[in-house]
Amino acid sequence: MHIVVCVKQVPDSAQIRVHPVTNTIMRQGVPAIVNPYDLFSLEAALQLKDRHGGRVTVISMGPPQAEAALKKCIAYGADEAILVTDRAFAGADTLATSFALASAIRQIEKDLRVDLVFTGKQTIDGDTAQVGPGIARRLGMQLLTYVSQIDTLDLDAGNIRVRRRAEGGVQLLETRLPCLITMLEGTSDMRFATMENMFRAARYQTRIWDKDAAGIEDTGKIGLKGSPTLVSKVFAPKPLSRRADIIDTESHEPRDLALTLVGKLFTQHPELRDSLAQQDA
Ligand SMILES: Cc1cc2nc3c(=O)[nH]c(=O)nc-3n(C[C@H](O)[C@H](O)[C@H](O)COP(=O)(O)OP(=O)(O)OC[C@H]3O[C@@H](n4cnc5c(N)ncnc54)[C@H](O)[C@@H]3O)c2cc1C
Repeated sequence: MHIVVCVKQVPDSAQIRVHPVTNTIMRQGVPAIVNPYDLFSLEAALQLKDRHGGRVTVISMGPPQAEAALKKCIAYGADEAILVTDRAFAGADTLATSFALASAIRQIEKDLRVDLVFTGKQTIDGDTAQVGPGIARRLGMQLLTYVSQIDTLDLDAGNIRVRRRAEGGVQLLETRLPCLITMLEGTSDMRFATMENMFRAARYQTRIWDKDAAGIEDTGKIGLKGSPTLVSKVFAPKPLSRRADIIDTESHEPRDLALTLVGKLFTQHPELRDSLAQQDA
């Protein structure tokens, strides 16, 4: 079994600030991390490898520094890492990104057939959740989004059964391999890197692919040229001006405190009262 996991290196959004005048993201000094959602995918892939054997290849498109994110994945237990990097990719939107990643996955397939591709649900910087579906479409793979659990994988029969979080419930889905899964957050805890894998990651030579190695001939489909998206405006949301209410818990009976809190909640969100009243009726 061969699984490819797409991981993106992103700025740690907890430390990002938006310039108050230009409204641009101030990235200086902000540490880069593996997109947290991608770690849920990597863990799911590693669990499948624990159960069924096989290989896990991680792939990222990004600047040379993104190699650090891939090495982290090797330390967690991935077998191979490929960084797709080329100046020609600069300015890529999600259409061009999914094209480049899909082309690279096709190249990977020339060495070893790919049974499953994983992506995160979304990134914490771009946040579009479009790249996974874009790759699946380009590769002609079945697409399973918002997967919360993988129930069974039958390699002999070539199918997989998963649980997918949907509005108002959980869907049980079964499909044929190969397929692309976008994994939900909170599905499992990321394992710790073992000492052996950490040493392996330190020594590991990441495979670096430029556009030619990734099998891309048509440069009109990558980078800025291949990106029809236009960003018309970027702005930081206005901070809420309301101050927090401070309630002295010592001087309230628990029942009074609960009533006060519910009263405040209903005053600030009258729609909640209406919806509860409807449900009650
Ligand atoms: C006009 C325009 C210009 C842009 N120019 C640049 C630029 O010059 N430099 C730049 O860094 N960004 C640029 N971006 C942002 C870039 O398009 C997105 O970061 C990228 O397409 C991924 O989209 P996303 O972050 O919304 O990913 P999502 O669709 O939210 O990601 C879903 C999943 O796809 C996978 N994935 C996403 N991106 C990658 C990746 N690069 N490698 C591996 N897996 C991935 C991950 O598993 C991720 O969890 C630009 C965007 C626009 C609209």
